[in-house]
Amino acid sequence: MENASQSTIKGTGVVSGVAFAEAVWVRPRPDLPTSGTPIAEDEAAAEFDRFNEAVLTVSGRLETRAAGAEGNAAEVLNATAGMVKDRGWHKAVRKNINAGNNAEYAVVGATDKFIAMFEAAGGVMAERTTDLKDVRDRVIAQLRGEPEPGLPAVEGEAVLFADDLAPADTATLDGTHIKALVTELGGPTSHTAIIARQLDIPCIVAVGAKLRDIEPGTKVFVDGSLGTVTLGADPATSEAAVAEYRERAAKVAQWTGPAQTKDGHRFQLLANVADGNAARVAADTQAEGIGLYRTEMSFLSATEEPTVDEQARIYGKVFAAFPQSKVVVRTLDAGSDKPISYATMETEENPALGVRGLRIARDNESLLTRQLDAIAKAAAERDENAPTWVMAPMVATSSEAKWFADLCRERNLTAGAMIEVPAAALMADTIMPYLDFVSIGTNDLTQYTMAADRLSPQLAYLTDPWQPAVLRLIQHTCVVGRDNNVAVGVCGEAAADPMLAGVLVGLGVNSLSCAATAVAGVGAQLSELTLEQCQKIADIAVNSVGASEAREAVREYIANI
Ligand code: PEP
Ligand code: MG
Repeated sequence: MENASQSTIKGTGVVSGVAFAEAVWVRPRPDLPTSGTPIAEDEAAAEFDRFNEAVLTVSGRLETRAAGAEGNAAEVLNATAGMVKDRGWHKAVRKNINAGNNAEYAVVGATDKFIAMFEAAGGVMAERTTDLKDVRDRVIAQLRGEPEPGLPAVEGEAVLFADDLAPADTATLDGTHIKALVTELGGPTSHTAIIARQLDIPCIVAVGAKLRDIEPGTKVFVDGSLGTVTLGADPATSEAAVAEYRERAAKVAQWTGPAQTKDGHRFQLLANVADGNAARVAADTQAEGIGLYRTEMSFLSATEEPTVDEQARIYGKVFAAFPQSKVVVRTLDAGSDKPISYATMETEENPALGVRGLRIARDNESLLTRQLDAIAKAAAERDENAPTWVMAPMVATSSEAKWFADLCRERNLTAGAMIEVPAAALMADTIMPYLDFVSIGTNDLTQYTMAADRLSPQLAYLTDPWQPAVLRLIQHTCVVGRDNNVAVGVCGEAAADPMLAGVLVGLGVNSLSCAATAVAGVGAQLSELTLEQCQKIADIAVNSVGASEAREAVREYIANI
């Protein structure tokens, strides 16, 4: 309950947890020149040298920070340094300088060109424009002799506010000082969200321009699961909430499998991965295997289809991280926000509703069969008892399910389908007879059920997996799964939310697959609920009138257990 002096603004919570600390803003970006100081023809070479010097300083600084960082942080910093040194971008800058512009203005023009290209490509590429702008701003600040934009040095504890964070900033975030992240822009799949999830820092994105009204130094209470930033919160209550959260986090860190409810009802707890590196990280958690290997993530920048042998090598790296355990490989989910140049249509009016997922193989079956051959080849190298399951994305009809399952079985692969199109959930009784298992993709199932773009910050209130409409489709799928003796898993982001995971188990889901960092939180929460309590919260959520109401009612029920 808010008191009169409290006010709350809301965004999309992407990592749960609470924090109570002063707001600090990421150091401002330089004002961009809107016109250039013209230079004479004979000054162009010296101007380009000045640009090169700035490039060397900025990339050198990033590389030094990379050398002092580890793992993903080092990779991101090196990747940003690589962008600063990108030849194509330098060429565009040189062209602008040769046309009579000073270096600062030439940098802006060259970057705009690349931003337009990335935005035209859409989806994941468009989200990467933040990286381009970051590189531009660092070089412009250096050209002007201004301090490097980005993270401030923080002493004590702080909540970091930003318009959107660049990868180079998020990579070096220090969780001992930064207790939460709040951004004006961004979305659930933006860099900010990905890194916050990895660091397990409470995070809210897409708050909008009202975030700017909060003065730096203001003490704010941030709740990552509600997506709220509260000003004027009562210090004693806020501090108690933070202490409780930390106690809980310590308990979660202690949790060990096997995944089961308080009364011993087993379910599988698996990890979502994109490549061999991520699979190795997942192997260090309590995940029992991999419930979603997004194969397309390895090929986003490939211009040609890798051969069967090359693909088998790539898949083999993921299998190697879980030599004895179940690995669910998803065939290429290319298209929409994950364009792959050799697999997807060049332009589509409405790519999320277009030729994506399994649909790309309708006119190009050999693309799919080559991938299945490669998966079978890599699987043949595994321990003979290690289950390798294969599933197709975006299955909508029983004939698609049959077609895919037949191709899998010809290769001795266990066949499944994602349930992420509402039609597939509604027609599950006609689809399941062909399959060994299904896995519900709540990200797309929510997008298509609510008719709301999953990447849109404005529609985040609709693309909330707590939407009862989505839960009812999951409930129906579970009932049909039981009738057909077909295992039903969930591998969308819903499985990463501990309370919602309880709802899913209560609905009858047999396995949950989530980001590696979410595994312990989900396992710990479920170990505190009996199956009957899970069924009760499932009933509460399914019968709520909306997503917020469902979340609140379940939270209240759990708090009163
Ligand atoms: C989903 O849609 O829920 C899913 C797991 O697949 P992706 O997020 O890769 O589309
Ligand atoms: Mg999907």
